[in-house]
Amino acid sequence: TPIDRIRNFSIIAHIDHGKSTLADRLIQATGGLSAREMTEQVLDNMDLEKERGITIKAQTVRLTYKAKDGLDYTLNLMDTPGHVDFAYEVSRSLAACEGSLLVVDASQGVEAQTLANVYQAIEAGHEIVPILNKVDLPAAEPEKVKQQIEDVIGLDASDAVMISAKTGLNIEGVLEALVTRLPPPKGDPDAPLKALVVDSWYDQYLGVVILIRVKDGRIRRGQKVRMMARGSAHSVEQVGVFTPRMVAVDDLGPGEMGYITAAIKTVADVAVGDTIIDDRNPAAEPLPGFKPSIPVVWCGLYPVDADDFEKLRESLAKLRLNDASFHYEAETSAALGFGFRCGFLGLLHLEIIQERLQREFDLDLIATAPSVVYRVHRTSGEVEELHNPADMPDPSQIDHIEEPWIKATIMVPDDYLGAILTLCSERRGQQVDLTYVGNRAMAVYRLPLNEVVFDFYDRLKSVSRGYASFDYQMDGYAESDLVRISILVNGDLVDALSFIAHRSQAERRGRSICEKLKDLIPRQLFKIAIQAAIGGRVIARETIGALSKDVTAKCYGGDISRKRKLLEKQKEGKKRMRQFGKVEIPQSAFLAALKMD
Ligand code: GDP
Ligand code: MG
Repeated sequence: TPIDRIRNFSIIAHIDHGKSTLADRLIQATGGLSAREMTEQVLDNMDLEKERGITIKAQTVRLTYKAKDGLDYTLNLMDTPGHVDFAYEVSRSLAACEGSLLVVDASQGVEAQTLANVYQAIEAGHEIVPILNKVDLPAAEPEKVKQQIEDVIGLDASDAVMISAKTGLNIEGVLEALVTRLPPPKGDPDAPLKALVVDSWYDQYLGVVILIRVKDGRIRRGQKVRMMARGSAHSVEQVGVFTPRMVAVDDLGPGEMGYITAAIKTVADVAVGDTIIDDRNPAAEPLPGFKPSIPVVWCGLYPVDADDFEKLRESLAKLRLNDASFHYEAETSAALGFGFRCGFLGLLHLEIIQERLQREFDLDLIATAPSVVYRVHRTSGEVEELHNPADMPDPSQIDHIEEPWIKATIMVPDDYLGAILTLCSERRGQQVDLTYVGNRAMAVYRLPLNEVVFDFYDRLKSVSRGYASFDYQMDGYAESDLVRISILVNGDLVDALSFIAHRSQAERRGRSICEKLKDLIPRQLFKIAIQAAIGGRVIARETIGALSKDVTAKCYGGDISRKRKLLEKQKEGKKRMRQFGKVEIPQSAFLAALKMD
């Protein structure tokens, strides 16, 4: 296709407004898949995405469309995740496109992530086409929502395309808008090759698969290329596109998106944001690349079985290849042995990575208490970043500690505003702004990140019956009265459960953790004392009574096979436990104990 008949676009929207459904319809309408191949939400191909009904990874598809002007166009679509934890994924997709379809649910209107995403698209210099989705719903109010888009976002919505992604109504209108309203990419086919590494993942047979966007020049099979920042050179084995199936092509030119493989087995050779150049005719300047992502939540990940440490290391490297917003480094814990300190963009991100490690790499893991990054100012004048509560220096060496704050934007129907304001003030929030958009309130708050990471999002959803939406940005550090709370099980310190909290919350959270652990740790043959302490001072305590029977006792009589099964089951359960002194703590207790309610 000539470059002026290429359109590269992202679909952006608040979660559940219909991005993935629209992507399905576009693929269907342009014949990318046969009816038999067409499943629901084809682009959410990770099991985890299908189960949770959310998009985690950005996906790309090449569509071919014959427009009303009689010409064939190549449309490259990127579907993006909507949850705030995956904003980094969104920013990367946007950098690979010239325009965005902004999908807004016509029965819900503009939500917090609609705003956050649209601002990112504007920043990326995108042309934006507003799409009003779900007009089939009786509750749809397209005219009102158009007005909202103009008032809140400041975008002209008079030409918004009204559709139902579910019924397929006016998908043609979306395709025409892409062709007539978005600009074609720019690029020079005769200049030396420059291609942006947008994403990458590891395939057992092909090695590293690299998703690219070509800026200048061409990339073809057999060509020797170089990763500009990493320095490694490779011979291109396969060039192709997703339709969404992988289909090989001869080459990719300026403005095109697709993948390459080059039998790369060392995952460290590839970095998202790097520029691919021709080895014999190298371009001088790299492409702008991406802003590095900065993890805001850290936790330790340890194999349940210590023999899995090397496997965990390899798996983390492969996962990192597929998720540049995830960071890790080796660490050790007195209680858990060898493991890794891992950084995430939020708690959902943490849960997803943990689950992917268990499913895709078959690893049983223990996650320690998630923590934000504190700044410790020592009396000696040194300042250090604290990623792990277990590393907190002795109070006598601390002059003061700073904690990270965020600026949160919350949108909520008027009826639930009171509950949201209460929640924010319980979490030490400071109101910055409160305005109205129709009968929806938009509250802007400054909140300590520490009060948000564990369960703020869940609480927000529950006190507003799912109607509140939320987005946040980091907003600097401020001094705070913070203490470390240690957890002791039968007198032994479990360093993996230590956490840092504001002094005013310490007792409540200490008590809550002890109560949770009491339910989460199974009874054992002796009494177990669970204590929370600040320094040497115990602030909460629970006791688990002793148990004397073994599990087979309840099988009266002689059903041997049943008895054996029970013992097997008990052994299986043991694998997922960790020994602390004499006490066994199940893997599930570690994260569950930290979720407040
Ligand atoms: P995403 O989170 O933006 O990717 O949203 P999804 O595409 O997963 O859609 C969220 C939900 O809205 C799903 O249950 C869809 O079936 C539903 N949905 C999407 N588009 C429409 C539509 O046009 N009309 C109706 N009634 N429901 C829709
Ligand atoms: Mg989706």
